[in-house]
Parts: sequence; C-alpha cells; structure tokens
Amino acid sequence: MPKRRDILAIVLIVLPWTLLITVWHQGAINPLLAARKDDRHESRRDSRNTFTLKKPCSSENNKDIVEVVHTEYVYSRPPPWSDVLPTLHVVTPTYSRPVQKAELTRLANTFLHVPNLHWILVEDSPRRTPLVTRLLRETSQNYTHLNVETPRNYKLRGDTRDPRIPRGTMQRNLALRWLRETFSSNNRHSQPGIVYFADDDNTYSLELFEEMRSTRKVSVWPVAFVGGLRYESPKVNTLGKVYGWKTVFDPHRPFAIDMAGFAVNLHLILFKPQAYFKLRGVKGGYQESSLLRELVTLNDLEPKAANCTKVLVWHTRTEKPVLVNEGEKGFTDSNVEI
Ligand code: UDP
Ligand code: MN
Repeated sequence: MPKRRDILAIVLIVLPWTLLITVWHQGAINPLLAARKDDRHESRRDSRNTFTLKKPCSSENNKDIVEVVHTEYVYSRPPPWSDVLPTLHVVTPTYSRPVQKAELTRLANTFLHVPNLHWILVEDSPRRTPLVTRLLRETSQNYTHLNVETPRNYKLRGDTRDPRIPRGTMQRNLALRWLRETFSSNNRHSQPGIVYFADDDNTYSLELFEEMRSTRKVSVWPVAFVGGLRYESPKVNTLGKVYGWKTVFDPHRPFAIDMAGFAVNLHLILFKPQAYFKLRGVKGGYQESSLLRELVTLNDLEPKAANCTKVLVWHTRTEKPVLVNEGEKGFTDSNVEI
C-alpha cells in the first residue's frame, strides 16, 4: 500500500508538468488561430472577386499540429460591378396574382448571383405596387421599376388562354423604349449591353447569363418545356449556323423561338429604334418573330449553349402535355439532359 505521503509527492510532481505542457501547447496554437482570424477579416475587406481561395496554414514550426487544408469562399451578392463586362439588361413583365411574390423572389435570388445584371421589372398595373416596390428595395439588386397596364380590351378578349392575347407585350415594349431613351445614340458606344426578356415564371441557370453576355447581334439557344416538347431548339449546321427550328408548332415561323430563347445586343436595339413587339394582328407564336425580323436575318443568329445542344432555361407552364420521346420525328435528341 502506497503511503499517503507518497501519493501526495506524485501529485506534486505530475501537476506542475501537466500545467507546463498545457500552457506550452496553448501558446503554440493561439498565434495560428489569431493569424487565421486576421486573414479572414482581410479577405472580406479586400474581396473584389466572387470568392477567395485561402492557402493552408503553415505548420513548419509545429510538428504537433496536423495541417488542415482550409478553403474559404467569400461571396458578395450581387457580385461587385465590373467595368469590363457588358451589362445584362433583363426585362421581366409581371402582374399581380397569388404566386407573384414567390416567382419574383426566386428570380431575384437567381439574378443576385450574376455580375453586371440590371433588372428592368415592368408591372402590368396602373401604378407601381407596394409589394413589388418593397421586394426590389430589399433585394439589393440593380433595378429599374416601371409599369404600364395592358388595356382591358386586350385582356378580356374571350378565352383567357387565347394565344393572340399579348401577355407581357406592352411591358416589354415599355422596357425597349426606356432603354432607347436612357442610352441615347450619343453615348451608345460607352454602354456595352445585352437585352434579355426573362418572364417571371421560368427557371434560369446561371450559365445562361454568361452565354448571352458575348452576344454581338442576336444569340439563340434551346428552351425546355415549350410548344408541347421536352425542348425546342434552333437547328444548327456543322458550320455553326442556324438554318431552321426544331419545333412541332408552326416551324415555318421566321423565328420559331420562345421569348426565353434569345438575347439582343443593346447597340442593335438602339440602332433600330422602330423595332418593337407587335401588339395587334399577331398570330399565336409570332410575337418573338415580330421583333426579331426587324433586327436580324436567320444568317445573323449566334447559337450559344454548346451550339444549342444544352438546355439552360426551362419554361414553367405549358398548355399541352410535354412529349417525352420525339426522337423518331427528329425534333428532340433524347440524350440531351434537361
Ligand atoms: N404577364 C403580364 N400580364 C398578364 C399576363 C402575364 O405582365 O396579364 C407577364 C407574366 O408575369 C410573365 C409574362 O408576362 O412574365 C408572360 O406571361 P405568361 O407566363 O402568363 O405567358 P406564357 O409563358 O404562358 O406565354
Ligand atoms: Mn410563362
């Protein structure tokens, strides 16, 4: 049996050593933690890029500490404005309905990831509503808020599903007018920009915005879930030229393309001041053609999204059921991921 005195002696010997080792260990770790904390503040202050990759901490002097590769992304939303990237002017018509706030929130969340995006939101209403005004103020998005009400005689003409009734057309035209008035021909060359018509109910990949940013005249790409198909697309030949349209619905339209399937260079919009979406006497599905035929010919079109083989935008509603397999008709390549 060890005597009490022996136990006391052991404790007195072990305790100082334990304390000493603990203090020494803490001393070695603290400067590293402090350094890492400083780094983090530094990178946030200096972050001009979308994210910053941090280097692993050095453990040269410290063999005890296992090196941890630490990756830190520093986001800012929206990303910092770039002086070199063209601005994307994204035009969205919108109208009051139960899902409006949800749709606009979803859209704003997407747009906040895109550098140099200017959202032109045009309400179909006699005045700008508090709901949309608040939503825009709170998103920290770069925006212009406009409104114009579609006359009742257009809206109430018979069946509301009648494709001749223009949905969002007056709102898109107001945005075109605003762009022409704002970026007058004098400073045309100092304002590189792209115009895109993004309805509030569709889904947009972030990649799409980078594809359209290099538009010289009019760029085009596939759109999923339109015209009763899994997707509609421009037909592109081996030389990378658009020569027709993969659509079921009236493929002989001059531009058989959905509103979400093209973007226009701002210079072209300014250069052709008479080009608007036609409001009257436009057959269903001819809305897009009514603007595009004023701006370009088929030969001018620039196919994007890997020569129109990738789907980067999804139409939300479709009146007809979406056909699953159109392979035999040559419309839809079922290998395309949607
Ligand atoms: N829209 C509008 N007023 C209306 C109906 C629609 O401003 O009376 C907007 C709508 O918010 C959307 C765009 O116009 O951004 C296209 O409308 P919708 O999605 O209903 O048309 P579809 O895609 O079915 O042609
Ligand atoms: Mn829609």
